[in-house]
Amino acid sequence: MSENCLFCKIIKGEIPSKKIYEDDDVFAFYDIAPQAPVHFLVVPKRHIATIMDMKPEDCELVGKMLYRAQLIAKDLGLEEGGARFVFNCKADAGQTVFHIHLHVVGGQEMGWPPF
Ligand code: IMP
Repeated sequence: MSENCLFCKIIKGEIPSKKIYEDDDVFAFYDIAPQAPVHFLVVPKRHIATIMDMKPEDCELVGKMLYRAQLIAKDLGLEEGGARFVFNCKADAGQTVFHIHLHVVGGQEMGWPPF
């Protein structure tokens, strides 16, 4: 846990969130400013600032995030249409919260490229 991290505070329940799922390793909640009809975030309970700070021992944890994200996406009705699974990393990608989070957005068609 990192003391001044927004998502660590959400995980600890110090800041309210619309929680979707929680286990010992992973926490999922709806994005406060949804960019699509469905937009939720999956975060690890262990604080990792950016995806470029991943260490070998984080591989299983990030796999758990991705596995849970696709289960939730299916629960929320995204299996047929699909969804986008995104990690923004550092300034050029627009990362604003420095605790890794997997965005899952779906429920509408999306364009590519994303800029
Ligand atoms: P980033 O820009 O990839 O770092 O994404 C951060 C995301 O966190 C944005 O989509 C924000 O809308 C979202 N966010 C910021 N604060 C909160 C909150 O308190 N609850 C839920 N989502 C949040």
